[in-house]
Amino acid sequence: MEKLIIFSPLITFIIGYNAGINFSRIFAVLFSVCAVIFYTSHLVVIVTISALFLTEFFLEKFHGNMKSLRRLFNDKLRDLVDELSSIKKDSETTKLALTTNEKVIKNILHIYELSKDIASYIDLEKMFLLIVQSLDAQFTIKDVVMKIFDGNKVFSKGVYSDKKSISFDIDETAKIPKISKNVIHLPMNIGDKYFGVISAKIPPLFEKDAEFVNEISAFVEELNPAIQRAILYLKVEEMSRTDGLTGLYRRGYFNERLKEEELRAKRSNGRFSILMMDIDHFKKVNDTYGHQAGDMVLKTVSEILKNSVYETDFAARYGGEEFVVIFPKTDPEGLKIKSEKIRQKIEQTEITVGLEKIKVTASFGIAHYPKDSQVAEEVLRCADISLYKSKQTGRNKVTEFDLDR
Ligand code: GH3
Ligand code: MG
Ligand code: MG
Repeated sequence: MEKLIIFSPLITFIIGYNAGINFSRIFAVLFSVCAVIFYTSHLVVIVTISALFLTEFFLEKFHGNMKSLRRLFNDKLRDLVDELSSIKKDSETTKLALTTNEKVIKNILHIYELSKDIASYIDLEKMFLLIVQSLDAQFTIKDVVMKIFDGNKVFSKGVYSDKKSISFDIDETAKIPKISKNVIHLPMNIGDKYFGVISAKIPPLFEKDAEFVNEISAFVEELNPAIQRAILYLKVEEMSRTDGLTGLYRRGYFNERLKEEELRAKRSNGRFSILMMDIDHFKKVNDTYGHQAGDMVLKTVSEILKNSVYETDFAARYGGEEFVVIFPKTDPEGLKIKSEKIRQKIEQTEITVGLEKIKVTASFGIAHYPKDSQVAEEVLRCADISLYKSKQTGRNKVTEFDLDR
């Protein structure tokens, strides 16, 4: 009997632990019924039933505890998983931010390098050309207009397009970068002083790209002081008679001198000659060695020209790589020989730029007053026609104007 008292709660416990509380409950009731039926002693029945139900009571408590422990464990586990996935997400965001930052820094450095290069120039036209090249390389933008305002009037305008000239309708009051009809307008200013606007036709995909607007604005902002310096230089240079790069007279002053020379020749029944000279394939020099090398070539060629003519002759830079000389009272034959000497000197001169040694040639055209025309401007045109002939017939040569040719 004692065995029943000891074992039945034990079996109830094992069943309850392994198969669940409901099974142990059924088992406890079954045992109690058996105890009532088979054992007549009330004490044994009461003790057995009490032992069974006590076991039951503790089992249930134990199960309850287990359940809440399991729930707690599951909650903790879920928290842990959530935390892990948020850490993973955080690290991905950080990684993305790092690569974006790296890209932004790279772009800023590139923009800085470009603007540093452009800022090393003082000539506004050249600067504009480089700005256009940089915009094309960095943002695939080709059509650019730069307007500089002097007070309210347009002081200087550069227009560039791949094939044809274009003109944008620029809102001159735009003081913040803005995009309208595929054209971005970038104001140029130093502090409150607003001196111009760069407008560029942008590909449609850039229209809503805030990063692009930031980068291109930063690029123009970086250039602002350099552009302003170039504007000042241009203003000062326009007041001067000589060209800053070559030291030769400028085209404006040349035109004045040509008129004077015509008057003098007319008065004294005298004569004069005009020589025009243009460096051959100069664009290639710039493209191959860079603008600074190109400038060095211009300086050297100007030097040769200056050293080859008399004090009384008048040499000027007519355009970019085009030169013109007035030779008063010259003998045409003598001038032909002199021009040939200048041509040879240029051809033979090695121009050292850094580690490079550059050689260029030039084409010449000559015409005479009053032989070719009695109007100075016409003589100049004749010299130009002859120069064109030199270019057409192989370059690096001197051509004298000849009506019959
Ligand atoms: P051609 O033999 O027919 O004369 O060919 P070219 O390449 O000399 O003539 P083109 O007119 O096509 O190019 C002239 C170049 O001269 C284009 C321009 O960028 C360059 N240029 C004009 N002024 C300057 C300057 O002040 N400095 C430099 N570096 N280049 C200049
Ligand atoms: Mg040329
Ligand atoms: Mg030319």
